[in-house]
Amino acid sequence: MTRAADGTPPPSGPPPAHVDVVVVGCGPVGLVTAGLLGAGGVSTLVVERNATTSDEAKAISVDDESLRTLQRARLDGCVYPILQPGTGTRYFGADSRLLVHAKGRRPQLLGHPFKSSFAQPAFERALAGAVSQLPSVDVRFSTELVDFCADTLGVRCRLRLADGSHAELASSFLVGCDGARSFVRTHLGIRMQGRSFDDVWLVADTVRDTHRERYAMHFGDPVRPRVVVPGRDGRCRYELKLRPDEVPPEGEPPVTLAVDLIRRYRAIEARDIERCTAYRFHALVAERWQQGRVLLAGDAAHLMPPFAGQGLNSGIRDADNLSWKLRAVLAGRASPTLLDTYEPERRPHAEAMVRLSVRLGEVMMTSARRRALARDTAVRLANLLPVSRRFLAESRYRPAACFAEGFVVPPAPGVRPAAARLVGRMLPQPRVLSAAGVVGLLDDVLGEGFALVSVGCGDEVPAALARSSLSHLGCRQVAVALDDTMPAAMPPDVPGASDAPATAPGTAGAADVDGRLQEEFAPLRGTVLLVRPDRYVAAAWPATSASDVASGADAVAASLARFLVGSPDGFETAHAGEAGGGPGALTSILPHGYGFWKAFL
Ligand SMILES: Cc1cc2nc3c(=O)[nH]c(=O)nc-3n(C[C@H](O)[C@H](O)[C@H](O)COP(=O)(O)OP(=O)(O)OC[C@H]3O[C@@H](n4cnc5c(N)ncnc54)[C@H](O)[C@@H]3O)c2cc1C
Repeated sequence: MTRAADGTPPPSGPPPAHVDVVVVGCGPVGLVTAGLLGAGGVSTLVVERNATTSDEAKAISVDDESLRTLQRARLDGCVYPILQPGTGTRYFGADSRLLVHAKGRRPQLLGHPFKSSFAQPAFERALAGAVSQLPSVDVRFSTELVDFCADTLGVRCRLRLADGSHAELASSFLVGCDGARSFVRTHLGIRMQGRSFDDVWLVADTVRDTHRERYAMHFGDPVRPRVVVPGRDGRCRYELKLRPDEVPPEGEPPVTLAVDLIRRYRAIEARDIERCTAYRFHALVAERWQQGRVLLAGDAAHLMPPFAGQGLNSGIRDADNLSWKLRAVLAGRASPTLLDTYEPERRPHAEAMVRLSVRLGEVMMTSARRRALARDTAVRLANLLPVSRRFLAESRYRPAACFAEGFVVPPAPGVRPAAARLVGRMLPQPRVLSAAGVVGLLDDVLGEGFALVSVGCGDEVPAALARSSLSHLGCRQVAVALDDTMPAAMPPDVPGASDAPATAPGTAGAADVDGRLQEEFAPLRGTVLLVRPDRYVAAAWPATSASDVASGADAVAASLARFLVGSPDGFETAHAGEAGGGPGALTSILPHGYGFWKAFL
């Protein structure tokens, strides 16, 4: 059966013979990748071997960064209705008393709640419905990738269709978002590194729950470590660590066990269990995430225990990082070597999230009574100090992504310290007033591509930037007005940020609405920022005069030239000898060698 997950008519006919990108897997990471590619008009085929999106008891929380990504892919509108926005986590000690009430940063830094709860099946359905509507995206269920081979010129895929027949197609890139047991990864012979845990967890989603709580609750009770996450409409997630004698035999549905265990915390019958399963968790990272034109994202690239709620969120970060690079390369604006920055930028942060998830599990979910008591004492002592209390309450232990290498330019001397600290990090997203008088979020003013953001700079700066060597990036220029001033008037060809197409370059302005823009951007006064499409700051330089602006822009352009000014053969040079595909690769369907590829590309 091939049909869209939301019941819309399925794409008919055989898959196309050629697309820009094949995305393997219709899980959350594949769908967001396709959504971001589709928002840029990239022809994308998403293949999913199952007949629908999944109905498994998996992720239950999405963070502010992921929601910002969905905002830019224009997918936030379909997701917000299924969220319980603005939650956090309460951690309880061995004696069931509250240890930490972790809310994240307030007010919101990135324009969305720090944490929101949801059910992954509903999230996937909402995303699949919206992504299927994108004109350049073709979503195919009951369609499995069964073989592929890749060389420096392209990828050739073999698909098994719903009726058992096979189809072949060529693409410029293949993105394996195909989960923990990734076919793409194993076909390339890429191993996972790290460790797996023996503990077995029972995970159940229930309905008709009468809770009034809104926050997730992690109970560090060594007798029964557990996580309880209230959801919308009387739904609730229970994750309970099983004792070895409770572990159900392989394949046995643990519904009766779930009822038995959850009964200790609420009245429950078997019909209240919506879905339930038993998991062993892993802390694994793929030894490499790219082989030529084939890339891995999401669980295919990294697996972590769920205690930090970051597996899916890390996958969405991968999708965001990768998709603007693919878009730039496919549009001919960047050299394919830009894709080589994907893994160096993403891996350190994904590894940090794996470590955090493991640590949280070891500390909060320990079955060792002494360890639990030592933890509770240490946390209660830490709570006595305002600085450590704030660290815990604002969840600052969750590491923020910061790129030390990749598509970033180390700040030159003379850059304000606050601006230097922002390089390689995500730009805050306050609510702003645009020059057209519209109140919205900053990214809506920045548009979809690169942005040159000048903060509290003189009127000569936009013209100097327009003449600079960065102008060929097609950046939108955004002047941020400080000190209760209004953004400069729009030039006649760009009537206002709200009216201009999100992809249009030109200029726009942003002013303060509620004090947040002033607070976050005043320390950057007199600085120009080069902001990437994923809203990370690639570079910052001082703009005290028109000549500073121009020389700073030229230095940044020179640093990034290796990514932006690629020869048409850039990929072949960078990835010579890296053709992908396992022993069963489709060499038999390459009748004319490289000439065959060229016909497709
Ligand atoms: C109990 C639990 C709780 C969790 N809680 C959280 C949380 O709160 N927050 C969070 O961020 N993360 C959480 N996670 C992790 C999160 O669920 C995963 O990280 C997320 O599902 C990964 O998404 P994905 O798209 O990479 O992979 P998947 O969701 O596994 O999707 C992969 C898809 O690829 C398809 N596929 C595989 N091979 C092929 C092929 N050859 N051809 C076609 N299709 C194929 C599969 O059928 C599947 O649909 C949790 C996980 C668990 C188990």
